Amino acid sequence: ALDIGHDLGRAILNARAFEREHQLVEELQALDSYKSELIATVSHELKNPLTAIIGHLEMLEASPDLNGTTRSSLAAMDRGARRLARVIDDLLLLSKVGDPTNTIIPAPVDLHRVLDDVVDLSSVAADRKHLTVRIEAPDAPVLALGDADELDRVCANLVSNAVKYTPEGRSVTVSLAHVGDQVVLECSDEGIGISTADQEQLFTEFYRSTNPEAIAQPGTGLGLAIVSRIVGRHHGRIEVESALGKGSTFRIYLPAA
Ligand code: ADP
Repeated sequence: ALDIGHDLGRAILNARAFEREHQLVEELQALDSYKSELIATVSHELKNPLTAIIGHLEMLEASPDLNGTTRSSLAAMDRGARRLARVIDDLLLLSKVGDPTNTIIPAPVDLHRVLDDVVDLSSVAADRKHLTVRIEAPDAPVLALGDADELDRVCANLVSNAVKYTPEGRSVTVSLAHVGDQVVLECSDEGIGISTADQEQLFTEFYRSTNPEAIAQPGTGLGLAIVSRIVGRHHGRIEVESALGKGSTFRIYLPAA
């Protein structure tokens, strides 16, 4: 009888501990969704007046009778306002892709076509630095299962980082392949590289490397956080291999359609 009483007591204690843990998880989930909602609301509230400011700045800059000082002040305000708009857009997207209640409706997405468009759009920035951006992919479509806009964003962020962090005259290669029931996308550059310490924090919101060559480039530190959340909600995986001064490779595995 003593043994039974002892076992029963332990079972009750275990059940209570389990209930407390469950409650804690629910509280954390509620806090997390409150945080996402707060970011989304604040971002919306900031975006509307900012759009008006950018519109008025454009109108003023178009005026023919401005002196040099006024013109350069307006240009500085315009740059600042656009940077702010980019941060707000990234924050809105980050909260959208981080919200577990906002699920994706998976459909086949041809990553080959997505990459063609992304590389095309990056050509202005690449040409300015005399960079070659190559795509290595099979002739046929390479179909991943996911959300077209989100996968487009993943490719755009990786390619634009590769272009941004690669010095003049070098090359960037984006490749696509089928491996088993997965699609593998690899973006390799001959850029400044990422230290091992930085590699551990790359996917944290607002993290920017301490490398002076990286800091010299404009950025919000939100791009890779967005990429990793999108890959995560597609049940995919992301890897990075990099050596300082040599270059970086970002590799993404996604379910094939
Ligand atoms: P951002 O580029 O806006 O700073 P990201 O989240 O896209 O933000 O990247 C985080 C940091 O990772 C960058 O600040 C940069 O230091 C580093 N990084 C990302 N991609 C590369 C790359 N291809 N080569 C070297 N460094 C990179």
